[in-house]
Amino acid sequence: MNSKETERAEPVNFIQAIIDKDKENNKYGGRVHLRFPPEPNGYLHIGHAKSICLNFGLAEKNNGLCNLRFDDTNPSKEEIEYIESIIEDVRWLGFDWEDRLYYASDYFERMYQDALVLIKEGNAYVCDLSAEKIKEYRGTFTKPGVESSCRFRTVDENLTLFQKMREGLFEEGSRTLRAKIDMSSPNLNMRDPVLYRILKESHHRTGDEWCIYPMYDYAHPLEDYYEGITHSVCTLEFEDHRPLYEWVLKNVHAIDPPQQIEFARLNLSNTVMSKRKLRFLVEKNYVSGWDDPRLPTISGLRRRGYTPEAIRNFCDRIGVAKTNSIVDVRFLEHCIREDLNKRALRAMAVLNPLKLVIDNYPEDLIEEMDCENNPETPSAGTRKVAFSKELFIEREDFHENPPSKYYRLGPGREVRLKNAYIVKCTNFVREEKSGEIKEIHCIYDPETRSGRPGAERKVKSTLHWVSARFALKAEVRLYDYLLLDSIEGVEQAEEEGDKDFVRLLNPKSIVVLKNSLIEPDLKNLVSGDKIQFMRKGYFCVDPDSTSDNLVFNRIVSLRDSWEKIQKRN
Ligand code: ATP
Ligand code: MG
Repeated sequence: MNSKETERAEPVNFIQAIIDKDKENNKYGGRVHLRFPPEPNGYLHIGHAKSICLNFGLAEKNNGLCNLRFDDTNPSKEEIEYIESIIEDVRWLGFDWEDRLYYASDYFERMYQDALVLIKEGNAYVCDLSAEKIKEYRGTFTKPGVESSCRFRTVDENLTLFQKMREGLFEEGSRTLRAKIDMSSPNLNMRDPVLYRILKESHHRTGDEWCIYPMYDYAHPLEDYYEGITHSVCTLEFEDHRPLYEWVLKNVHAIDPPQQIEFARLNLSNTVMSKRKLRFLVEKNYVSGWDDPRLPTISGLRRRGYTPEAIRNFCDRIGVAKTNSIVDVRFLEHCIREDLNKRALRAMAVLNPLKLVIDNYPEDLIEEMDCENNPETPSAGTRKVAFSKELFIEREDFHENPPSKYYRLGPGREVRLKNAYIVKCTNFVREEKSGEIKEIHCIYDPETRSGRPGAERKVKSTLHWVSARFALKAEVRLYDYLLLDSIEGVEQAEEEGDKDFVRLLNPKSIVVLKNSLIEPDLKNLVSGDKIQFMRKGYFCVDPDSTSDNLVFNRIVSLRDSWEKIQKRN
């Protein structure tokens, strides 16, 4: 994706163009019906969000429908937990499938009947080759495949054997049902692909009713067809499977068969996206769970503090393409900043506190300072924040020997304390043993109170602060990218045992600060609430938060490196 593409308000969508043409030709009687078909073998990630936004979005735009369908044809890997999380995530993103929630497993009997049609018409046969032999006989791009001797079985023999497969009379792996297409096809997917395999495993919905299960390439077109889908949108890696998709529908005599349309999957920099890799990180405890705020899962992004609006906006703006590319994660961050800038209220929090004492400020004086809740949205109003003699500022906002271009506090220097006074550093005290700076001493100028006439004397820097007397303690979790680099080639290589990306894991992807201090009025925030801590970023209250220990996740810092890249280009 280049920068120009992200700037277009409405990217040209080639799928919409196909739909427009179909409507014009009254194909499908003008109907537009899509589906989002997750396999319930993991939690959804931002790549799925792209597919969800695309499918539900196209349905909405075209007065059509979109189903949610669990593609649960593989009994071994699927779990109820995943189904529940997927339902929650799609709903949270803001999409509605009404009463059209389907399970591929509900179609097992109908798929079986259609397999009988294939057998009866000489288009499928029971094969005795093992999985290894089938692979060996398949040939390569340059070498045609070898026909199985079972190819020549009679229809009756095939019907009997397939029936016995269903009855469980054969061992797992001993037989398959295969399509009879063409062992010398240049498309390897068309070399008598396996349609059914024997798996003596319980299925989470059909129990032990079945011991043969359909393969994806056979099941998927039928699922689409049974549901009256018109446009079956999938990712590019299925492009070579399209002839098989069409073959299956043609040979079960589908009327108005759905059409498969491929688009480029979303890849994001500095993270992993495939469910297999995500599951690996979760199961090996590299992260705290599927909703770890460092993960690009929808539940992780939600916990981190991303809003559905920001994710939907991101998905719309990256557009739909025909070639694979990697989207810079900083563009996703740009989208959440844009959203929260308008909505999040501002407050002050000191993440790494350093004490500041105003020597000439009266011991017992407390002044209520007026602070804007959101300068972008004046209707958000103001609040009062108590100011007192002893405060805390950010440790990094004081420097004993300020380097050049450091305009914050240092010995003899003046800064403004946000919404309060200008203070001047007169002295600082060290911890005896460690030599670490323990507190700094200042004097304030009472004539400089913010908002008062004549208070506008300029200083180079404005610092946030909290009152030592009133501030609340909080835990703050700061995140960095999950991976140090982009995974690129590694991401594509889905080879078994490919756990190479672990070496790219960022050892500093999480930093937990236990002694941060926040404005006292924030004590009533609840899990999911979002706020901007001035100068420090956007934060979200974590579900781990309790009234005794408030926990905040940093969603993003305030510095928009995406905008900077845009300006440079
Ligand atoms: P993964 O490859 O991450 O394990 P998957 O493709 O196996 O995901 P499915 O549950 O089969 O996951 O995907 C459901 C739908 O989401 C499919 O239509 C698939 O094409 C789409 N999808 C999955 N990953 C992406 C992605 N990165 N970008 C866009 N669409 C995606
Ligand atoms: Mg898949």
